[in-house]
Amino acid sequence: MRIILAQPRGFCAGVVRAVDIVERALEKYRTPVYVRHEIVHNRRVVETLEAKGARFVEDLEEVPPGAVTIFSAHGVSRTVEAEAVARGLPVLDATCPLVSKVHTEGRRYVAQGRALILIGHAGHPEVEGTLGQIPGEVHLVASVAAVAALPIPPDRPVAFVTQTTLSVDDTRGIIEALKARFTDLVGPDTRDICYATQNRQTAVRELAQRVDLLLVVGAANSSNSNRLREIGSEQGVPCYLIPDAAALRPDWLRGAETIGITAGASAPESLVQEVIAALGRLGPVEVSALPGIVEDVSFKLPAALVEPEASAA
Ligand code: SF4
Repeated sequence: MRIILAQPRGFCAGVVRAVDIVERALEKYRTPVYVRHEIVHNRRVVETLEAKGARFVEDLEEVPPGAVTIFSAHGVSRTVEAEAVARGLPVLDATCPLVSKVHTEGRRYVAQGRALILIGHAGHPEVEGTLGQIPGEVHLVASVAAVAALPIPPDRPVAFVTQTTLSVDDTRGIIEALKARFTDLVGPDTRDICYATQNRQTAVRELAQRVDLLLVVGAANSSNSNRLREIGSEQGVPCYLIPDAAALRPDWLRGAETIGITAGASAPESLVQEVIAALGRLGPVEVSALPGIVEDVSFKLPAALVEPEASAA
């Protein structure tokens, strides 16, 4: 059996930073630190941090008075920020800087008097956070059909921003529909879809050309992992999203000589290696990786975690 790995795959710079923030906070403050929502959408990451002392909560009400509180990589609404301030919680913000950039863009467009359209999936924490960061008229759309139903006159000045982990192709179609519908439309093209999402989608598309079966390692609630699975399936290859090696099904492997593996931006490389090991227990495997884009992006940590004398603010 041949195994080909996508390049790049797995952790992006925003996830590395978010996990680093929790680990450094645990080292620095020693007491339990509280993380609002899964720091990134991956059970292995969450369980590893829980074992080191992190507590994950969905609501700030669950955080005891004075406890160090970390916002997840997906970002939070202004209401959540205000609640933390009102409760006097010392906060470390692990919101990915590329998500924060979308918040800033959205606020700028609204300040110009434009109606804002957020292209994204309802209910995803990043979308909830972005909606809650931008005051004014914001409409959420997830499809070309939803563009037609927008209650905005065609000559109204309009702008759009996007969730960072969408499919580049799907988003392009929605943007084209917006251009066709509105005469005064501005937006950042597909550039809100972050570099990591774009690179992983390019890599999985290329990988799908060379394999009989494609495995995407990632969580069911991970947006970018789901997009990778969709793109793999669109290329006509059987493609499955699996959280870990235990989810592998032998019947998927029947007749598959070459298996492609990629991983979502929140899935650690250890999960990929465990899938390779599980396949190796079924017979000899030859593992290679596609030459792909080598990423060199990294984001700064909050000052409170790099300046020894400073404290969380
Ligand atoms: Fe940031 Fe992109 Fe990673 Fe999301 S997928 S955490 S936006 S780098």
